[in-house]
Amino acid sequence: MPRYPMQSHKPRLVVQNVSRSFGGRAVVRDLSLVVEAGQLTCLLGPSGCGKSTTLRMVAGVEEPDQGRILIDGEEVFGPGVRLPPEARGVGLMFQDFALFPHLTVAQNVAFGLRKGEGRAARVDELLERVNLSGFQAKHPHELSGGEQQRVALARALAPRPRVMLMDEPFSGLDNRLRDGIRDATLDLLKEEGTAVVLVTHEPGEAMRMADEIALMRDGVIVQRGAPYNVYNAPVDRAAAAFFSDIN
Ligand code: ADP
Ligand code: MG
Repeated sequence: MPRYPMQSHKPRLVVQNVSRSFGGRAVVRDLSLVVEAGQLTCLLGPSGCGKSTTLRMVAGVEEPDQGRILIDGEEVFGPGVRLPPEARGVGLMFQDFALFPHLTVAQNVAFGLRKGEGRAARVDELLERVNLSGFQAKHPHELSGGEQQRVALARALAPRPRVMLMDEPFSGLDNRLRDGIRDATLDLLKEEGTAVVLVTHEPGEAMRMADEIALMRDGVIVQRGAPYNVYNAPVDRAAAAFFSDIN
């Protein structure tokens, strides 16, 4: 019997008891996560704790050994179900995001869009919203790192992904640029109403950006909650020490 028989609400992203081992070593263990549309959850934890593997399983480029993943109530991974990445309606941004060097900015942003009436308008709209109006005809090599990052964000959001998956997307950027780009990214994601999972090993980044922090260690979420609560009431000494690194 379902636990909530009257429930009709379907969260944007549900990860249910997902596990994954490599060579007999469990790197993600029985991990569960719910992210609502318009909400940003940070997977925060030290290097090697299983953050990227978790994100890759949601994206569909890595397969869980067990568990289920649902997007808008639709099973994209589960017993007998294995939707390929391109059918999941997810957008991806990684640290070493690469624009297509031979394509213009507009062509890069349009890359995932079908030809048709709305395409040029969508490209213009997104470029305006990442403050790159007038950059349509430029090529990536003419842009700064921060500008390239904003084009990558526009490209990832162009097809209106249901879930945006971001793996340390800001770590290649100058400190000076980072805050501005974080704010711009957050504004745009909120306007689009996308559910976001952002992976980071920087507590400061999680504090600035997250609606919810899921603190990971050794493949397990050891604590979750609003940034303020996780910061103020760390679950144990290791969590407290991790947060003391904040910059
Ligand atoms: P994080 O993103 O938190 O730094 P990862 O999810 O990348 O951690 O990796 C978690 C652990 O799993 C690491 O010890 C890593 O070496 C291991 N791992 C990740 N992918 C593979 C793989 N394809 N084959 C073997 N080991 C892997
Ligand atoms: Mg990683």
